[in-house]
Amino acid sequence: MTDTRHDGADHEDRDLQMVRDLLAYIGEDPAREGLLETPSRFLKAWREYTRGYLEKPEEILKAFEDGAERVDEMVIVRDIPVYSLCEHHLAPFFGKAYVGYIPDQKILGLSKISRLVEVFARRLQVQERLTNQIADALHTHLQPLGVAVVIECRHMCMESRGVRHTGTATVTSALRGSIKNDPDSRREFLSLIGR
Ligand SMILES: [Zn+2]
Repeated sequence: MTDTRHDGADHEDRDLQMVRDLLAYIGEDPAREGLLETPSRFLKAWREYTRGYLEKPEEILKAFEDGAERVDEMVIVRDIPVYSLCEHHLAPFFGKAYVGYIPDQKILGLSKISRLVEVFARRLQVQERLTNQIADALHTHLQPLGVAVVIECRHMCMESRGVRHTGTATVTSALRGSIKNDPDSRREFLSLIGR
């Protein structure tokens, strides 16, 4: 998908100047040779970090019914990489997501689950909302019997500033449907993701 958020050459100078101002703000010299290309690289990187705003979860979640007739066992995708940005400090948080669901007639291509995680991760986030958004999108658009999402991340805003809780991970979970209500399903999910 093309990024139409920053179209128009008239804005380009202003956008680059914004980054030069940031460099000056931290005490750097934006005219220093090593920093000359930094503003345009920075803007390009930030468009990528926030690409999720351009994508619609419902378009990714096109399910197929063919082949799903007899599938009523839990499907789990483990170790999905998560790269996101905390909305309070614009600092990275990153880690892994574990997503499981129990199909009801419809199954998803497995790569779609990773892409769904990306769509919500590539926005400004708090980890709790990220976890809930993934679970709710699956619950709403795929309508499975149950959904479970667990995310484990390290937050640079916690580790590299303030109280410096180095190496600590934050774990969040969101359960929907039968995985929430049935203790056996819940245990199965947790044991299959190795927790
Ligand atoms: Zn933060």
